Amino acid sequence: MKMKKIIADRTKLIDSSGIRKVFALAASFKDPVNFSIGQPDFDVPEELKNEAIKAIRAGRNKYSMTAGDSVLLEKIAGQMTKQFGWKNPAVIVTSGVSGGLLLAFMTIVNPGDEIIVTDPYFVMYKHLVNMLGGKCVFIDTYPAFDLPVDKIAEAITPKTKMIVLNSPCNPTGAVYSEQQIKALAEVAAERDILILTDEIYEKFCYDGPCPSIAGHYDKVILLRGFSKSYAMTGWRLGYTAVPGSLKEIIEQMTKIQQYTFVCAPTPFQEAAIAAMDYDVSNLVDAYRKKRDLIYEGLKDKFEITRPAGAFYAFVKVPKGSATKFVEKAITNNVLIIPGNVFSEKDTHFRISYATSDDKIRQGIEILRRLA
Ligand code: PMP
Repeated sequence: MKMKKIIADRTKLIDSSGIRKVFALAASFKDPVNFSIGQPDFDVPEELKNEAIKAIRAGRNKYSMTAGDSVLLEKIAGQMTKQFGWKNPAVIVTSGVSGGLLLAFMTIVNPGDEIIVTDPYFVMYKHLVNMLGGKCVFIDTYPAFDLPVDKIAEAITPKTKMIVLNSPCNPTGAVYSEQQIKALAEVAAERDILILTDEIYEKFCYDGPCPSIAGHYDKVILLRGFSKSYAMTGWRLGYTAVPGSLKEIIEQMTKIQQYTFVCAPTPFQEAAIAAMDYDVSNLVDAYRKKRDLIYEGLKDKFEITRPAGAFYAFVKVPKGSATKFVEKAITNNVLIIPGNVFSEKDTHFRISYATSDDKIRQGIEILRRLA
């Protein structure tokens, strides 16, 4: 039988992650400077590990309710009300923010719908929209990676269904200001457009609090997660929340979860209840220092915007394509990701500085040599 006949056409609408390709390469290197993958280099805090172990020992190993453990759901809803003043928020706990994104996009995107995405972007948005037959409308944010509210306003058409926001941003490390976010909320309100805000890096904000559009606009789907904040990327936990007026979105996402993921991992949901009260400010302080290290180490040799959040820097290559520069860096033992993985352009590379300070110093030295 010919494989061409077996494999569904939608698989051609996506290609495998360029990040994973570099990550796989890392396995064949002896001791590389690995700036390639977006996960913290610290381990899950002991207290939270103990909560998960306790839950497993106590027999919390069966399915939870589809939308999630009721105590966790209530805790998240309470936080939404406290932070944004939302009345009766609706919440679903998902298998990572990735799970939430899949369910949210499946719930919202019809074939032909236009989804506005700022470029550079987290790769999954593009692939999900394509897979569902929607169309991404990319808004160029180079070179400062601020939120270009005017350009977004101009790009809105009668087909625009949703605007995707990601602040702090993967891959640029940009954090949108309160002022920019308010301006976007006004544009969206005027044109009655839904906003999906992916705030998985909300804890990693280095120069002040992390503004959220959820405090300024109520047609919003908010996604946050546990992967990055507590270094539990393998536990697969995230959540999606909306104000009560949009609760049907969560109901539809829950229906789809029932026939796909069924529920998020039950014992880890119990640990997540404790995680929500766990203070990560020490870890964030350590990451702020890493941010300073990378920025100060590269700024005189490369064009680099000072990242304000997440753990990424998006750096312009000195000349030629990013892909070529990345090949050169990899042969010199530094794993970085070319910009075209996150962008319609191939002019920058992404550094994930979630690694030891020693490795960061080594990496800086090598990259400076290649500049
Ligand atoms: N959104 C963004 C912007 C991300 O960078 C990531 C992880 N790289 C995710 C969502 C998904 O994370 P997870 O599924 O582990 O929660």
